[in-house]
Amino acid sequence: MKKTMVMIAAALCLSCVNQKNEKREAEQTPFDYNVERFADLGVLRYQVTGWDNLSFDQKKLIYCLNEAALYGRDILFDQNNRYNLAIRRTLEAIYTQYKGDKTTDDYKALVVYLKRVWFSDGIHHHYGQEKFLPGFSESFFKEAVQSLDPTLIPTRKGQSVDDFLTEIMPVMFDPTLYAKKVNQDSNTDVILNSANNYYGEGITQKEVEGFYNAMKNSNDTQPVPFGLNSRLVKKNGHLTEEVYKVGGLYSPAIERIVYWLEEASKYAENEQQKQVINLLTDYYKTGALKKYDDYSIAWVKDTESVVDFVNGFTESYGDALGIKASWEALVNFKDLEATALTKVISENAQWFEDHSPVAPQFKKKEVKGISAKTIIAAILGGDCYPTTPIGINLPNSNWIRKEYGSKSVTITNITDAYDKAAAGSGFNDEFVCCDYEKELIKKYGTQTDNLHTDLHECLGHASGQLLPGVDPDALKVYGSTMEEARADLFALYYIADAKMLELGLLNDPEAYKAEYYKYMNNGILTQLSRIEPGKDIEESHMRNRALITRWVLDHGRKENVIELRKTNDKTYIVINDYPKMRMLIGDLLAEVQRIKSEGDFNAAQKLVEQYAVKVDPDLHQEILERYNRLNIAPYKGFVNPVYEAVKDANGNIIDIKISYTEAYDEQMLRYSRDYSPLPTYND
Ligand code: ZN
Repeated sequence: MKKTMVMIAAALCLSCVNQKNEKREAEQTPFDYNVERFADLGVLRYQVTGWDNLSFDQKKLIYCLNEAALYGRDILFDQNNRYNLAIRRTLEAIYTQYKGDKTTDDYKALVVYLKRVWFSDGIHHHYGQEKFLPGFSESFFKEAVQSLDPTLIPTRKGQSVDDFLTEIMPVMFDPTLYAKKVNQDSNTDVILNSANNYYGEGITQKEVEGFYNAMKNSNDTQPVPFGLNSRLVKKNGHLTEEVYKVGGLYSPAIERIVYWLEEASKYAENEQQKQVINLLTDYYKTGALKKYDDYSIAWVKDTESVVDFVNGFTESYGDALGIKASWEALVNFKDLEATALTKVISENAQWFEDHSPVAPQFKKKEVKGISAKTIIAAILGGDCYPTTPIGINLPNSNWIRKEYGSKSVTITNITDAYDKAAAGSGFNDEFVCCDYEKELIKKYGTQTDNLHTDLHECLGHASGQLLPGVDPDALKVYGSTMEEARADLFALYYIADAKMLELGLLNDPEAYKAEYYKYMNNGILTQLSRIEPGKDIEESHMRNRALITRWVLDHGRKENVIELRKTNDKTYIVINDYPKMRMLIGDLLAEVQRIKSEGDFNAAQKLVEQYAVKVDPDLHQEILERYNRLNIAPYKGFVNPVYEAVKDANGNIIDIKISYTEAYDEQMLRYSRDYSPLPTYND
């Protein structure tokens, strides 16, 4: 508690923030963000910025939570499909022990397949859900398995290697068997046709719905999340839950998780955090969902701790009916530098509101900036590894959210890694028109990007007011696009303001141009890469960016403020007059705020339909081809850093060291060796 207070006091000193920023720029040593690329996947590495500023106790706390985060990996593999552990262990045995020719196409394809299995935590694509097929022959696989020491093969008790192969090979090679991990097709039985392992073989959707509907009580205002932490199976003709808990399903892994959580509680930062950890271990020991809700409430209340974590059966995207949760973990700590910056912005919120180009009657008389929380990920585990969200908002329970709120955070070192990795991809050379902008983006691209996000979150969404009597939902389907546009325009308008330099948020009056160029480039050109050919723009953040950039292009053409230029069949954005572009942004901000404040549905509809929905098919095609040629992986995941506990002669931990040199296969094999307590078959 005291520590947090000291840090907040430090955050108030603007020159400190400024100096810290300059120091950060100067100290940056080259860090290799790109690790590996195969199939449609890219493996990146992230940096745990600010680690050295943590106290020794905080480091020990994170170390223990990390261990707890890594021990759940096998659970997720088994949840995704009952054969995933058998297949992973067989492939790993070949990868490490095979003595045959490793230069053949078959062997190389096996390596890619194993890397994909690691990446997707099983044999189904992590995003598309479909089973991906091996690129090697069945005969090669058979021969490779038979060439190994039979004790290395994860056969069932008493099963021969041949019988094992007969059981496992259709699972890998037959495209019709376990074809989709999660099947959402409403014309089929979504349980029978999903390959995940949340339900015993042969259980139908009707049976599942019947089982859980019977548990619900419509008078209960605080319902527990029924079925969240169990597999539903049929025994002697009766449906019954196998609960994930100590002594239940996945017990060997959960026991290790509990052990490390109990170790972690010794270093808890305060009583509230200690209570969070204790409630979680109680829940793991009993499997009682009421305990899970108690834990979630305590977790939401813990806003003081610097270190925080998620560990458990959390999200239910992996179950077509949204009942069962996959195991995931994330250990993190507050990004104190970024939090200091958002604090500076929030504290000046009234100044920004008073000086905006919006008409006075639409401004807030008293504005309170929102303090956005940003965190640094220390380790990713379970369903957050290797692919991870860049933000989290938990808990999921509706009544807890309503009564106690939720924690919403963005993970800055992960977004930073995405940015830096993309910088090495040739993206800027392909899509940025001129050397002047390329230089600015290199120098200030990430800094202004983060600043834009902060201004958007802390000021943009907090600014402006509705006129009395205006319905907040008056803009209906256009509401969220207009709201995002308002927040982005507020950020874009002020990122070019001298106030940024005065507050020490930027130190070069030209830095904002990096953000202006990137924003225009993304809104008009590069974001089209995420749209399928022939489709409209649907998502409201994408619509907002299209709206702003195309409106500015349209209105800036006359005076040659900005233009689209075609060179060698490639379209580029060329910005000729940045100060005038800022004035256009101010004009649009005033208009968007007016529409919002007055609830002018017709004007909102006109703006969105004219600028934010349709895609020029020729330009779209051109962008897709240019992306293709760059060979940027559509899906990305991360390797974790390695944490090492340094001990003295008596076995006491004296330091926690962090390193970033582990390769993708090294890490996966290490996790499979050191954090793999589950048996191959859990049924
Ligand atoms: Zn927003």
